[in-house]
Amino acid sequence: TGKFFVGGNWKCNGTKDSISKLVADLNNAKLENDVDVVVAPPFIYIDQVNNLLTDRIDISAQNCWVGKGGAFTGEIRSRAEQLMDMGCKWVILGHSERRHIIGEDDQVPFIGKKTSYALSQNLKVIACIGEKLEEREAGKTFDVCFQQMQAFADSITSWENVVIAYEPVWAIGTGKVATPEQAQEVHVAVRDWFKKNISAEVASSTRIIYGGSVNGSNCSELAKQGDIDGFLVGGASLKGPEFATIVNSVT
Ligand code: 13P
Repeated sequence: TGKFFVGGNWKCNGTKDSISKLVADLNNAKLENDVDVVVAPPFIYIDQVNNLLTDRIDISAQNCWVGKGGAFTGEIRSRAEQLMDMGCKWVILGHSERRHIIGEDDQVPFIGKKTSYALSQNLKVIACIGEKLEEREAGKTFDVCFQQMQAFADSITSWENVVIAYEPVWAIGTGKVATPEQAQEVHVAVRDWFKKNISAEVASSTRIIYGGSVNGSNCSELAKQGDIDGFLVGGASLKGPEFATIVNSVT
Protein backbone atom coordinates (compact mmCIF):
# COMPACT_ATOMS: atom_id res chain seq x y z
CA THR A 1 0.00 0.00 0.00
CA GLY A 2 1.68 3.19 -1.14
CA LYS A 3 5.39 3.77 -0.99
CA PHE A 4 7.32 2.13 1.87
CA PHE A 5 7.92 4.73 4.59
CA VAL A 6 10.68 4.67 7.20
CA GLY A 7 10.95 7.33 9.88
CA GLY A 8 13.75 7.72 12.40
CA ASN A 9 12.58 9.25 15.66
CA TRP A 10 15.69 10.49 17.43
CA LYS A 11 13.62 11.52 20.49
CA CYS A 12 15.56 13.58 23.01
CA ASN A 13 18.98 12.24 21.99
CA GLY A 14 22.15 13.59 20.46
CA THR A 15 24.63 16.43 20.63
CA LYS A 16 25.93 18.72 17.90
CA ASP A 17 28.82 16.31 17.34
CA SER A 18 26.93 13.03 17.40
CA ILE A 19 24.27 14.50 15.12
CA SER A 20 26.87 15.69 12.56
CA LYS A 21 28.26 12.19 12.48
CA LEU A 22 24.85 10.56 12.16
CA VAL A 23 23.87 12.90 9.31
CA ALA A 24 27.17 12.19 7.54
CA ASP A 25 26.48 8.45 7.83
CA LEU A 26 22.96 8.94 6.43
CA ASN A 27 24.27 11.05 3.56
CA ASN A 28 26.75 8.29 2.67
CA ALA A 29 24.28 5.42 3.02
CA LYS A 30 22.93 3.67 -0.03
CA LEU A 31 19.15 3.87 0.30
CA GLU A 32 16.59 2.10 -1.88
CA ASN A 33 14.96 4.60 -4.20
CA ASP A 34 11.41 3.55 -3.67
CA VAL A 35 11.18 4.43 0.03
CA ASP A 36 10.14 7.64 1.74
CA VAL A 37 12.75 8.34 4.40
CA VAL A 38 12.20 10.86 7.18
CA VAL A 39 14.21 11.71 10.30
CA ALA A 40 12.93 13.55 13.36
CA PRO A 41 15.72 15.30 15.26
CA PRO A 42 15.17 17.12 18.55
CA PHE A 43 13.88 20.65 17.83
CA ILE A 44 17.11 22.44 18.69
CA TYR A 45 19.08 20.45 16.10
CA ILE A 46 16.59 20.76 13.23
CA ASP A 47 18.46 23.65 11.66
CA GLN A 48 21.79 21.85 11.89
CA VAL A 49 20.29 18.74 10.31
CA ASN A 50 18.54 20.75 7.60
CA ASN A 51 21.85 22.38 6.67
CA LEU A 52 23.79 19.12 6.47
CA LEU A 53 21.32 16.46 5.31
CA THR A 54 20.86 15.59 1.62
CA ASP A 55 17.47 16.24 0.00
CA ARG A 56 16.94 12.47 -0.25
CA ILE A 57 15.75 12.46 3.35
CA ASP A 58 12.95 14.64 4.72
CA ILE A 59 12.81 16.15 8.19
CA SER A 60 10.04 15.75 10.75
CA ALA A 61 9.43 17.55 14.02
CA GLN A 62 8.53 15.50 17.10
CA ASN A 63 5.72 17.79 18.23
CA CYS A 64 4.10 21.14 17.47
CA TRP A 65 1.78 23.69 19.02
CA VAL A 66 -2.00 23.37 18.54
CA GLY A 67 -2.53 26.52 16.54
CA LYS A 68 -1.37 29.97 15.66
CA GLY A 69 1.73 31.57 17.11
CA GLY A 70 1.76 34.21 19.82
CA ALA A 71 2.16 34.25 23.57
CA PHE A 72 2.76 30.53 24.22
CA THR A 73 6.06 30.28 26.05
CA GLY A 74 8.20 27.35 24.96
CA GLU A 75 5.91 26.16 22.17
CA ILE A 76 6.81 25.78 18.51
CA ARG A 77 4.40 26.48 15.73
CA SER A 78 3.81 24.10 12.82
CA ARG A 79 3.38 26.93 10.40
CA ALA A 80 5.72 28.17 7.69
CA GLU A 81 7.13 30.82 9.98
CA GLN A 82 8.60 28.15 12.20
CA LEU A 83 8.72 24.35 11.60
CA MET A 84 8.24 24.54 7.86
CA ASP A 85 10.52 27.55 7.67
CA MET A 86 13.22 25.42 9.33
CA GLY A 87 12.84 22.70 6.72
CA CYS A 88 10.32 20.30 8.27
CA LYS A 89 7.81 18.57 6.05
CA TRP A 90 6.39 16.26 8.74
CA VAL A 91 5.43 16.20 12.40
CA ILE A 92 4.95 13.20 14.70
CA LEU A 93 1.72 13.54 16.73
CA GLY A 94 0.12 11.35 19.38
CA HIS A 95 3.38 9.58 20.25
CA SER A 96 2.92 7.39 23.32
CA GLU A 97 5.69 9.19 25.19
CA ARG A 98 3.69 12.40 24.85
CA ARG A 99 0.40 10.67 25.65
CA HIS A 100 1.59 8.73 28.69
CA ILE A 101 4.60 10.63 30.06
CA ILE A 102 3.72 14.22 29.17
CA GLY A 103 -0.04 13.64 29.52
CA GLU A 104 -1.34 14.70 26.11
CA ASP A 105 -4.54 12.93 25.24
CA ASP A 106 -7.44 12.56 22.87
CA GLN A 107 -9.93 14.06 25.30
CA VAL A 108 -8.56 17.58 25.65
CA PRO A 109 -8.38 17.30 22.51
CA PHE A 110 -4.80 18.35 22.21
CA ILE A 111 -3.69 15.75 19.70
CA GLY A 112 -6.64 16.39 17.41
CA LYS A 113 -6.15 20.16 17.47
CA LYS A 114 -2.49 19.79 16.63
CA THR A 115 -3.34 17.39 13.82
CA SER A 116 -5.91 19.57 12.13
CA TYR A 117 -3.80 22.70 12.46
CA ALA A 118 -0.63 21.04 11.15
CA LEU A 119 -2.51 19.60 8.14
CA SER A 120 -4.16 22.94 7.46
CA GLN A 121 -0.65 24.39 7.16
CA ASN A 122 0.44 21.62 4.75
CA LEU A 123 2.65 19.93 7.32
CA LYS A 124 2.30 16.15 6.94
CA VAL A 125 1.46 14.09 10.02
CA ILE A 126 2.78 10.79 11.37
CA ALA A 127 -0.20 9.91 13.58
CA CYS A 128 0.71 7.45 16.34
CA ILE A 129 -1.57 4.93 18.01
CA GLY A 130 -0.96 1.92 20.23
CA GLU A 131 -2.03 0.06 23.35
CA LYS A 132 -0.28 -0.41 26.69
CA LEU A 133 0.64 -3.87 27.94
CA GLU A 134 -2.24 -4.05 30.41
CA GLU A 135 -4.66 -3.05 27.66
CA ARG A 136 -3.36 -5.83 25.40
CA GLU A 137 -3.57 -8.34 28.24
CA ALA A 138 -7.15 -7.26 28.92
CA GLY A 139 -8.04 -7.88 25.26
CA LYS A 140 -8.53 -4.17 24.60
CA THR A 141 -5.94 -3.65 21.87
CA PHE A 142 -8.42 -2.96 19.09
CA ASP A 143 -10.67 -0.80 21.30
CA VAL A 144 -7.76 1.43 22.28
CA CYS A 145 -6.40 1.70 18.74
CA PHE A 146 -9.83 2.40 17.25
CA GLN A 147 -10.54 5.07 19.86
CA GLN A 148 -7.24 6.76 19.02
CA MET A 149 -8.02 6.41 15.30
CA GLN A 150 -11.44 8.00 15.85
CA ALA A 151 -9.87 10.95 17.67
CA PHE A 152 -7.53 11.51 14.73
CA ALA A 153 -10.38 11.03 12.25
CA ASP A 154 -12.42 13.72 14.00
CA SER A 155 -9.66 16.19 13.09
CA ILE A 156 -8.79 14.98 9.59
CA THR A 157 -10.69 15.76 6.42
CA SER A 158 -8.10 14.55 3.91
CA TRP A 159 -5.85 11.57 4.68
CA GLU A 160 -3.46 12.20 1.82
CA ASN A 161 -0.79 13.73 4.07
CA VAL A 162 -1.17 11.30 6.97
CA VAL A 163 0.77 8.15 7.82
CA ILE A 164 -0.48 5.97 10.70
CA ALA A 165 2.19 4.59 13.04
CA TYR A 166 1.08 1.61 15.10
CA GLU A 167 3.40 1.59 18.09
CA PRO A 168 2.40 -0.78 20.90
CA VAL A 169 3.62 0.94 24.07
CA TRP A 170 5.06 -2.32 25.48
CA ALA A 171 7.33 -2.62 22.46
CA ILE A 172 8.77 0.89 22.59
CA GLY A 173 12.32 1.05 23.87
CA THR A 174 11.97 -2.35 25.53
CA GLY A 175 13.65 -4.63 23.00
CA LYS A 176 10.34 -6.57 22.98
CA VAL A 177 9.37 -6.18 19.33
CA ALA A 178 5.87 -7.26 18.31
CA THR A 179 5.93 -10.50 16.33
CA PRO A 180 5.20 -10.05 12.63
CA GLU A 181 1.82 -11.74 13.26
CA GLN A 182 0.94 -9.45 16.18
CA ALA A 183 1.77 -6.34 14.16
CA GLN A 184 0.06 -7.59 11.01
CA GLU A 185 -3.11 -8.39 12.98
CA VAL A 186 -3.45 -4.82 14.24
CA HIS A 187 -2.54 -3.30 10.86
CA VAL A 188 -5.29 -5.36 9.20
CA ALA A 189 -7.74 -4.25 11.90
CA VAL A 190 -6.83 -0.59 11.37
CA ARG A 191 -7.26 -1.00 7.63
CA ASP A 192 -10.68 -2.54 8.21
CA TRP A 193 -11.49 0.33 10.55
CA PHE A 194 -10.66 2.71 7.68
CA LYS A 195 -12.92 0.76 5.32
CA LYS A 196 -15.85 0.87 7.73
CA ASN A 197 -15.40 4.40 9.03
CA ILE A 198 -13.74 6.39 6.26
CA SER A 199 -13.63 4.71 2.85
CA ALA A 200 -12.18 1.78 0.94
CA GLU A 201 -10.02 4.20 -1.00
CA VAL A 202 -8.45 5.70 2.14
CA ALA A 203 -8.04 2.18 3.57
CA SER A 204 -5.93 1.12 0.64
CA SER A 205 -3.99 4.34 0.12
CA THR A 206 -3.03 5.20 3.71
CA ARG A 207 0.28 3.80 4.89
CA ILE A 208 0.27 1.98 8.23
CA ILE A 209 3.78 1.68 9.63
CA TYR A 210 4.97 -0.24 12.69
CA GLY A 211 7.14 1.08 15.54
CA GLY A 212 8.56 -0.48 18.69
CA SER A 213 12.01 -2.09 19.00
CA VAL A 214 12.51 -2.35 15.24
CA ASN A 215 16.14 -3.07 14.42
CA GLY A 216 18.40 -4.25 11.63
CA SER A 217 17.75 -7.91 12.45
CA ASN A 218 13.97 -8.02 12.88
CA CYS A 219 12.94 -5.55 10.15
CA SER A 220 12.86 -7.86 7.15
CA GLU A 221 10.43 -10.39 8.68
CA LEU A 222 8.13 -7.52 9.66
CA ALA A 223 8.44 -5.88 6.25
CA LYS A 224 7.22 -9.09 4.58
CA GLN A 225 3.78 -8.71 6.16
CA GLY A 226 1.25 -7.49 3.64
CA ASP A 227 -0.08 -4.62 5.74
CA ILE A 228 3.17 -3.27 7.21
CA ASP A 229 3.99 -0.33 4.98
CA GLY A 230 7.13 0.81 6.79
CA PHE A 231 8.54 1.60 10.20
CA LEU A 232 8.94 4.27 12.82
CA VAL A 233 12.28 3.58 14.44
CA GLY A 234 13.61 4.94 17.73
CA GLY A 235 16.89 3.59 19.15
CA ALA A 236 18.11 1.93 15.95
CA SER A 237 17.66 5.18 14.01
CA LEU A 238 20.56 6.69 15.96
CA LYS A 239 22.94 4.37 14.10
CA GLY A 240 23.24 5.37 10.43
CA PRO A 241 24.17 1.99 8.93
CA GLU A 242 21.50 0.11 10.91
CA PHE A 243 18.85 2.68 9.95
CA ALA A 244 19.88 2.21 6.29
CA THR A 245 19.39 -1.56 6.68
CA ILE A 246 15.85 -0.90 7.95
CA VAL A 247 15.11 1.49 5.07
CA ASN A 248 16.33 -1.16 2.63
CA SER A 249 14.18 -3.92 4.16
CA VAL A 250 11.37 -2.96 1.76
CA THR A 251 10.09 -6.10 0.07
P1 13P B 1 12.25 2.17 19.73
O1 13P B 1 12.55 1.80 18.30
O2 13P B 1 13.45 2.70 20.45
O3 13P B 1 11.55 1.07 20.44
O4 13P B 1 11.22 3.41 19.67
C1 13P B 1 10.11 3.34 18.84
C2 13P B 1 9.44 4.65 18.79
O5 13P B 1 8.89 5.12 19.77
C3 13P B 1 9.48 5.40 17.53
O6 13P B 1 8.64 6.51 17.58
